[in-house]
Parts: sequence; structure tokens; C-alpha cells
Amino acid sequence: MSPCCSFARSDVRDSAMHDLVLRDVRIPSAALAAAARNAPRLDVAIDGDRIAAVGPALPPARVELACGGALLLPGLIDNHVHYREPGAAWKEGYVTGTSASLRGGATTIGEIQNNAPLVETAEQWRAKVASLVGRARNRVLAYGCATKGNLATLRELAAVAPGIKVFLAADGALEVCERAALRAIFAEVAAVDGLLVVHAELGPLIHAGVAQWGAKAADFHRARSPEAERAAIDLCNESCAETGARVHYFHVSSALACEAIRDAKLRGLPVSGAACAHYLLFTDADVAQRGALLKCNPSIKTASDRLALRAAVHDGTLDVIQSDHAPHPRAEKLERPFQQAPSGIPGADLFLSLWLELVDEGVLTLDDLVERGAVAPARLHRLTDRGTIEVGRLADLVLVETCDWIVAEADFASKAKQSPYVGRRFRRRAAKVWVGGRLAFDRAVAEDLVALEAAAPLPLDALGADGKSGCC
Ligand SMILES: [Zn+2]
Repeated sequence: MSPCCSFARSDVRDSAMHDLVLRDVRIPSAALAAAARNAPRLDVAIDGDRIAAVGPALPPARVELACGGALLLPGLIDNHVHYREPGAAWKEGYVTGTSASLRGGATTIGEIQNNAPLVETAEQWRAKVASLVGRARNRVLAYGCATKGNLATLRELAAVAPGIKVFLAADGALEVCERAALRAIFAEVAAVDGLLVVHAELGPLIHAGVAQWGAKAADFHRARSPEAERAAIDLCNESCAETGARVHYFHVSSALACEAIRDAKLRGLPVSGAACAHYLLFTDADVAQRGALLKCNPSIKTASDRLALRAAVHDGTLDVIQSDHAPHPRAEKLERPFQQAPSGIPGADLFLSLWLELVDEGVLTLDDLVERGAVAPARLHRLTDRGTIEVGRLADLVLVETCDWIVAEADFASKAKQSPYVGRRFRRRAAKVWVGGRLAFDRAVAEDLVALEAAAPLPLDALGADGKSGCC
């Protein structure tokens, strides 16, 4: 079960004392400065919102937490979630969404508004950021999006937003997949050294595939095919080569897509790719059996695609891991025919546990997890103040507990409790999560999930306000 974790408070008042010391933790090398590596056990001291010291046997602090050799990770950066607020907060909302992400070990998240109102202008982006203040419990990167109608103002949006989402397959104004339109979007974003985050499936191929293969769950991987994903990436790589825009491919789902990203990197293009756990854990056979619970876009593909994705995470072709947390109410998800059910899998609550399972399966190492889950996304989004456990960095930290745990719906802070993982056994999870030195989640304290709406949000200064650095 969980390691011994107990707080102790010192009566001594010494201004030189650190605010908090986490005593006796194990930290993967990838999270540490070179000088601190290879120590089997370390202490981490925190002053205010920053890491003040990392080393063996640090002096006493005002508050001490004995961690009994537990694993300590940098706060994960999950750069792809949907919280549906504003516009569809009945599906999730910032409070339950950020709470779910904290339970999954993510202290920074990238949020994409893919429901109305879309974030198409800098003004709308500022309104979105303002709506987060007092609601979010972790750090939020709010993306903007490129649509058929906002090219004239896109540069201004790209200059403030931490990323611009492009959907090459979507409904209505969100779908942009013509070569000239893409090139124009990429040029605008490149002009301000912005970042494109891409849903790479090619609309016409997807629409034709859905028309051809129809409504059955068993055929969903054919309807939304690997060829459609590869074609979209090829098209974006062309625009990337022509404009120099930085491109990050979300939720890569097939062997063909991995090849396209690998080829682009070999050509020296500034591209990166992201992996979601559900594509590494399930196959089309699972979708056929479990239906809309596993319906997501892109579709979950074959066993050989799954193997290729696992290899791509292992070798770094896919640089980043993300949840693509996409919550929908039970009635929409499970009480409709497969074809009418919305796509999306809620994954924020289990983000860390899922990837630790993949570590246990040998798909990646703990150091890889730190690299793909914290170091690489910090680098991608130019967040120089986080991603590792080093002196001066933000004290965004996750203490991991070992347990034998069968997931139940009651474990989710997300409003979307129907999950393909309910009933699955896990062995590790976040025990405590600090955001800027503040204990933002503590599993040992009974959390009344219903009361989350009233939970203390981060203060404005902890959220930050500089859009370009990505934190809002
Ligand atoms: Zn998504």
C-alpha cells in the first residue's frame, strides 16, 4: 500500500529554514540536474512556489513530509484536454476538469475549446483566459484555433495563444484541409513563431470512409483510416517545409502516421508528435466489443498499429504523451447507436496511472515517462520554469503511491464517469500533487467531489498572465 507519508511541523522559527521539505524520495534521473543524478534517495526543499534545494539529508524545514522512498515526479504537462467551458460546462467545466487532471498528476494542461464559442480571435482568447481565473486548480494553456473564417486575425491570436489548433477533419467551419488554406494558416502562425497543434485526419477521406463503412463499431478503424491520417500529416509537412512553422501532431494513432512523422524529422522539419494511452492499450477488436466507450477520433486501430505506436513512444518519434481528455455525458455516449454517439474518451483522472502501467509493461522507462510527460512538453511550449525537479523551477510536483487498485466510477473527479478503464486494475497513482508549492491534491484527505465547485482555485498570480509563455 501507500508509503508512509506524514507531515511534521517544526516549532523552531528560523528565517533560513525552508518552508517545506519532502524527505526521502526517489526521483528519475531525467527529472534531475546532472549533479543530483544517481543518488538513490533525495530530499526536495520548497520555498514559496519554487524548488529551493535538491540533495541528500537537507537541513530541517518548517514543515516536513516523510515520504518513505516514494517516487517523486515533476508535475506532468498534459497538453491536450477538453474541459468544454464555456459553452458546454455541463459536460465538464474548469473545476471538475482541472481536478481530474490533478488526480492524474498533471499540473499544467493544454486546453482546446472545440465547442462553441470557439476561440478565433485574440479578444476571444483573452475572454477565455479571464474565465479561467478563480476556476482552474492547475495551470492552463488555452489554445486558439484556426477556422475557415479567421485568417485575417490569426496572426494576432497566434502571437498570444500558446498554440493554434487546426482540424483537418471536423464539422463545419472548423475543418480546414485545402492545401492553399493550410499554407496560409501556417504562414501566419510562423510569422510570429507560434505553434500549430494539429488534428491530422484528412476531411474528404474521413467523410468518404464513413460513407463507405457505415455505422458499425467493428469498421470504425476503416471508416477513419490510417491513410486519412497519413495524408493529413503529409499535407501539413508540406506546409511546414514551405513556411517553417512549428507543428505538433496530436493523438497519433497509426503506423503510417508514425512513419510520416519520422520521415519529417529526418528531413529536419520542426515537427513533433503526441501519443495517447488508449491507442497503446486497445485495438479495433476492443472497439468492436465495447462500442462507444472506445469511440474516439482518430479511431483506435489494429494490433500492428498499436505495436508501431509503442515503438514510436519508446524511440521518441512521439515526443509527448497526452490524455486527449474528452468528456461526454453517459446518455450521449452509451444510450445512442454507435454512429450517433460522440467521440472522445475521458482520460485526465488516470493520466499518470495509465502511463505507469505502460512503464510496467516495458513500453517505456520511468525516465521516458518524465521526458515525454514533462521535459518534452515544457520544451515544446517553451515553459522554462517547469518540467524537471531542479533548483529555481516551479514546485509543481507529484508524489506517487503504490497500491493495488481497481478503478471505480467514484474515483473520477471528471463529470464523465463512464470510462473504458472502470474495473481495470492499476498499481500506482498520484498521492499528493503540488502546484507552485501549494498542496493542490491530497488523496489522503477525503475529497468531496460534489463540493469541487466550491474548491479553492489557484490565485491569479499562480496562474500567471503572460499568454506567450503559455500560462494563463
Ligand atoms: Zn482532442
